[in-house]
Amino acid sequence: MERLEIIKSICQVINDNKDYLTELDREIGDGDHGVNLARGFEKIAAELPNMTNLSAAEVLSKMAMLLMSNVGGASGALYASALIKGSAVLKTHTTLDAQVIADTWQQMIDGIQLRGKAVLGEKTMLDSQIPAYQAFLAEISQAGSLSQGFAAAEQSALNGLNATRDIIATKGRASYLGERSLGHLDPGAASSYLMIKAISEALAE
Ligand code: ADP
Ligand code: MG
Ligand code: MG
Repeated sequence: MERLEIIKSICQVINDNKDYLTELDREIGDGDHGVNLARGFEKIAAELPNMTNLSAAEVLSKMAMLLMSNVGGASGALYASALIKGSAVLKTHTTLDAQVIADTWQQMIDGIQLRGKAVLGEKTMLDSQIPAYQAFLAEISQAGSLSQGFAAAEQSALNGLNATRDIIATKGRASYLGERSLGHLDPGAASSYLMIKAISEALAE
């Protein structure tokens, strides 16, 4: 699996689910999450042919810049923060094994938390990502392969996403709704789940 192919799959899944993500954001936000992300990931997809000679660290930092300059909204800055922190980890490694990926992902989550000050259980993108990362780590710690790690992550991300229905939002726009945010999925938890699913499927091919 070529590394840039994985990123292409992420761009594709965001584009394919643009309306779905926007619809989720219409229920508890301002109805732009899919449009926001698609704008950024379309730019990334268009730049992929120019990234073939970049290191993994450079690819992530380029993606961060493209998201920062093209995605309006909280999610653009949050995903960009994740990519910047992930890039810093990758810069110190030449081989990308499962443990390096885990360290990278852990720092990406840290980047989201530094930027957005949210913790698990506030109905944000962290609610699919943190359980997914934990499942990934558990799987690779028991000698699971990268693709087995992401398969476990995908399942936990989906469970985490579904659990956001039962959470009252305390961060982001949805927090303005208080209890009325109950019964709805978090759009950012959905986009994070879709990205993890795209990686998992790309690795399984
Ligand atoms: P905006 O709310 O500015 O319109 P988007 O609609 O693109 O931005 O993104 C909304 C998503 O961003 C939410 O569903 C949530 O998952 C995520 N989000 C918002 N605030 C935070 C935060 N402080 N920490 C983590 N994620 C957040
Ligand atoms: Mg929005
Ligand atoms: Mg907005």
